[in-house]
Amino acid sequence: MKIPPGMRVWQQAAILLVCAMAMAACSDATPAKTASIECDRTKLGVERTITVTAETGSIEALLNDREVVLTFDDGPDPRRTSAVLDELDRQCTKATFFLLGGQADRYPGMVREIAGRGHSLGGHSFTHADLTKLELEAAVDEVSTGIDMVNAALVDTGPATIMFRFPFVATTEQLSAEIRRMGLLEVGVTVDGADWTNIQPDASVEMIFEKLQAADRKGIVLLHDPFYRSDERVSLLLSRLKQDGYKVVALRGGETGQ
Ligand SMILES: [Zn+2]
Repeated sequence: MKIPPGMRVWQQAAILLVCAMAMAACSDATPAKTASIECDRTKLGVERTITVTAETGSIEALLNDREVVLTFDDGPDPRRTSAVLDELDRQCTKATFFLLGGQADRYPGMVREIAGRGHSLGGHSFTHADLTKLELEAAVDEVSTGIDMVNAALVDTGPATIMFRFPFVATTEQLSAEIRRMGLLEVGVTVDGADWTNIQPDASVEMIFEKLQAADRKGIVLLHDPFYRSDERVSLLLSRLKQDGYKVVALRGGETGQ
């Protein structure tokens, strides 16, 4: 911020006060409210961490009975992501957030908050376009611009992300091959909570468990942090996972080799 020379001291002070108030009101990085939580065996926690690379292939194939990977798409969102992070902290567990490049560009502080609170990040395109409906060059641009925006927010704070999830989980053989060529690992979805519908949080969680049961009690669970009541949904989900003896596996992006 530049204050014009010659301005009176009280005017400078007033400007500084207004700016400080604006920053407090508009900050996109809400501090954690869960710093005092004790991570003991009553919490869901993290069972183990898998370090993935572009060559990892199917993550589902690496999971054992009653192991799940938690994922959240379409953030970051200044209204709701922090509340989801608080719920994850309350159960001492970790997830992977597939971020939209446009949102990451708008809220870089939130990208750093997610990473800073120990979660891993992936790209989810720049605008959430259905990449199967674009020319290959435009689809590749959506992927790389989205990833670039996430990485730009993480400069000096974390490794470049190498995970990618297609918007609508919609891909083609050609697009999936292109993702691998770009040094990225495509991450799919085993079970989704249908949270883009009007489904209530408890019904959403019930559906997740029915689908998990049908998927040999393991897999990658998809929810969306920006969606209405996302914190309630994740709170219910994590409690139920703990109650039913499920374990959380965290993903960590390895070296890109680039
Ligand atoms: Zn999405």
